[in-house]
Amino acid sequence: MPVLVMKFGGTSVADLDRIANAAAKVRAEVERGHEVIVIVSAMSGKTNELVKWVSETATFYDAREYDAVVASGENVTAGLMALRLQEMGIPARSWQGWQVPILTTSQHGSARFIDIPRTNIEQKFAEGMKVAVVAGFQGLSPENRITTLGRGGSDTTAVAFAAAFDAVRCDIYTDVDGVYTTDPRITKKARKLDRISYEEMLELASLGAKVLQTRSVELAMRYKVRLRVLSSFEEVTETSGTLVCAEEDIMESKAVVGVAHSREEAKITLFTIEDRPGIAAAIFGPLAEAGVNVDMIVQNISEKDYDEAHPGAVTDMTFSCPVDQVPRARRAMEEARARGAINYDDLIIDDDVAKVSVVGIGMRSHTGVAARMFTTLAREGINIKVISTSEIKISVLIDRKYMELAVQALHDAFALEGAGRS
Ligand code: ASP
Ligand code: MG
Repeated sequence: MPVLVMKFGGTSVADLDRIANAAAKVRAEVERGHEVIVIVSAMSGKTNELVKWVSETATFYDAREYDAVVASGENVTAGLMALRLQEMGIPARSWQGWQVPILTTSQHGSARFIDIPRTNIEQKFAEGMKVAVVAGFQGLSPENRITTLGRGGSDTTAVAFAAAFDAVRCDIYTDVDGVYTTDPRITKKARKLDRISYEEMLELASLGAKVLQTRSVELAMRYKVRLRVLSSFEEVTETSGTLVCAEEDIMESKAVVGVAHSREEAKITLFTIEDRPGIAAAIFGPLAEAGVNVDMIVQNISEKDYDEAHPGAVTDMTFSCPVDQVPRARRAMEEARARGAINYDDLIIDDDVAKVSVVGIGMRSHTGVAARMFTTLAREGINIKVISTSEIKISVLIDRKYMELAVQALHDAFALEGAGRS
């Protein structure tokens, strides 16, 4: 029998009525002839509450106990969902991570999958169970301790099960009806995409479109899991939601499919650094050790013999990182300078910037995307501070106050309001 994975996020299981609503969607799939693996999140707000309890109890908490506490939210919804399905006459059973067992590494708080053996669940399916309700977000370490996968990790649990059980599809039920061309709160012209490629979704997910945990998309791409994102508050039809799929399954290739944004960015420039082999390593090594997530990097062309005080070649280095990591980045740079590992005249921080990006696999074959993007921003009088590109993405840093304007203008310029992609 074909296996379908259905995942319900926190808002979809926020109370008993919503669990009943989700259960009705599960029943419909059982009636369509599927064996169903349901992955549940904790009720919305629950995980935050548990995290708060942990940090109120211990500032420097033991990560193993953090996981023991924080994983419990999913246990509650798994049991309730199984009960609700049983009440509807559907043979269902709940599974906590250790019962499957979902084997992970022992990096508590951000564990990774090692293996999900099928035997236990398959045996129950063979005995007549129709639905396995699995607690998302959790696993079991080689030391036999409960682990969690990082916030938003239930998406990744769902994709991992779909891969392990060769599921026909992995449906992610959430509170939005799909993936949009941009944030609908910024422009009403944003529209739902019928399809998006793994690569595009990955760019949008990591650029701040928070529909799916980034790791779940990486995993889906690796194992070619067809992912569908859809709303648990709407009637499900064949065309519901957005299908995240391989590039080959997408007919039309517009140059740009989406405009992403990330509001809380900062830009840091080290002025007048030596231009010599090893300088970049000497800067970014300490930043990595300090846990700074460096995003864009720009190194100026070297100026020879800058002035008498600075014989030899010098240059400037600029990088961006999340605004809340600025203190750490600054400290790492100051310490590296004090140690003599690097040398700079000035460290300038601009913590008032945002990143706006256009994304699309069509960029590989369409020319002029960058020109159109820059012309559009120029017409709005928006100054670009840093540019970076990849094969399917162009990102710019701009003053934060222009972020909405930039998103709206680019959404218009690339005609994203037009007919849905299919
Ligand atoms: N409950 C966990 C969280 O809030 C995992 C999830 O919902 O995906 O992060
Ligand atoms: Mg989520």
